[in-house]
Amino acid sequence: MSRTLEYAPAPESRAIVDIKPSYGLFVNGEFVDGTGTSFKTVNPATEEVLAEVAEASEADVDNAVRAARRAYDRVWSRMPGAERAKYLYRIARIIQERGRELAVLESIDNGKPIGEARDVDVPTVAAHFFYYAGWADKLKYAGYGTTPLGVAGQVIPWNFPLLMLAWKIAPALACGNTVVLKPAETTPLTALLFAEICQQADLPPGVVNIVTGAGDTGRAIVSHPDVDKVAFTGSTEVGKAIARAVAGSQKRVTLELGGKAANIVFDDAPIDQAVEGIVNGIFFNQGHVCCAGSRLLVQESVADEVMARLKRRMATLRVGDPLDKNTDVGAINSAEQLAKIRELSEVGEAEGAERWSAPCDLPANGYWFAPTVFTGVSQAHRIAREEIFGPVLSVLTFRTPAEAVEKANNTPFGLSAGVWTDKGSRILSMANRLRAGVVWANTFNKFDPTSPFGGYKESGYGREGGRHGLEAYLKGADQ
Ligand code: NDP
Repeated sequence: MSRTLEYAPAPESRAIVDIKPSYGLFVNGEFVDGTGTSFKTVNPATEEVLAEVAEASEADVDNAVRAARRAYDRVWSRMPGAERAKYLYRIARIIQERGRELAVLESIDNGKPIGEARDVDVPTVAAHFFYYAGWADKLKYAGYGTTPLGVAGQVIPWNFPLLMLAWKIAPALACGNTVVLKPAETTPLTALLFAEICQQADLPPGVVNIVTGAGDTGRAIVSHPDVDKVAFTGSTEVGKAIARAVAGSQKRVTLELGGKAANIVFDDAPIDQAVEGIVNGIFFNQGHVCCAGSRLLVQESVADEVMARLKRRMATLRVGDPLDKNTDVGAINSAEQLAKIRELSEVGEAEGAERWSAPCDLPANGYWFAPTVFTGVSQAHRIAREEIFGPVLSVLTFRTPAEAVEKANNTPFGLSAGVWTDKGSRILSMANRLRAGVVWANTFNKFDPTSPFGGYKESGYGREGGRHGLEAYLKGADQ
């Protein structure tokens, strides 16, 4: 029997957003035509074409970098920190004022549920700008010097388009750098709305430049000789290519790459709370989360009970229209990502794991994948090793804390981990032994601008957020 309660539809109106038929590039404070071709961005929940967007060529990227350099030399690096802070505060306030518009646009372009865009993405974006506005006139107390690096080239992915933009732009600007940022090909619209917000805030021209495009545009930014710092979030494969591309140059680099986090549930954990944490860990944002708790490690003695309650909870997840306020799981961001999730799920079955998907009716159009869990997974299985980046959970069991640590650390990644237990001492001892940049205790996927975030091993290097996030945009204390 399905336990799903029937709710009346509660759709958010999209009338608040004004999507233009086509968009140019944002260079030197203005929207300009690109010299290259263009591409379409679609609503992944309906496959409706939303807009035609310019694909920045090498020449366009060069223009953007020149604008950023001019703004850096003439205005931004010379401006007192307290003045830069005023612009960041102004941007943060406008983000709050236009929060509903940003949330609806993010949901339409990305496929994420409006409830998440409204309650998580947009408030955290504003919080980032507020937080780094506070640092702009206090850099001398942070311990990394006060000299900015210059022009930052920033390339971001599609899973949290506006939030990743904030993680990149807010600390860069606070430290006195100017930026050229490329949003992902499938989710350019909120970055372009952010460009309008920069105009509204009277940000000096050239301080923020937004160039849309695909991998080639990203490559042009990363390899541009006048870019001083590269900040990238995305796949480990592209991250490695970027590290190779900048090797031997003077460029500074931070990479925030993939993950395969272990979410570890001990037998003394409050099971219902842990089940909520497991669901949040892997089904939040359709599992398109680099720090997703995609490997559940559950203590053998409670495995059956946890699985029974987890499946019961998964059957209540509402999958569908991202603009419906009751939706828990929205659309997969693109046809390519859906194909990848399907392929790895088939591999999981072929390798012998047992697949269970929540019973739900998926819409006829758009890209959808039912919340899925695999049991009987062994460490050698591809679904236990590779980032699926979708709503798919792989479950393994363990008997002792030592076995949990060994299995959790048996991955090339090291971005995050979760520990569920009643014992504080066990939390501390696990956190010390887990090779992960973030360890959540009795919670998961909590983000705060004051807290640093970043990886070990193939999850990348450098930290974003908090005081540590300033280090990536300053020359250092002895410069
Ligand atoms: P990518 O790493 O390809 O994309 C991230 C960003 O880099 C995008 O803006 C992309 O452009 C750009 N890019 C692509 N190639 C280059 C290059 N050579 N030089 C500079 N920039 C480049 O991720 P995908 O979107 O292709 O996703 C592939 C897989 O990566 C996913 O299935 C998922 O597993 C993982 N992923 C992980 C993320 C994380 O946060 N850990 C985030 C996103 C993806 P374009 O828009 O054309 O792709």
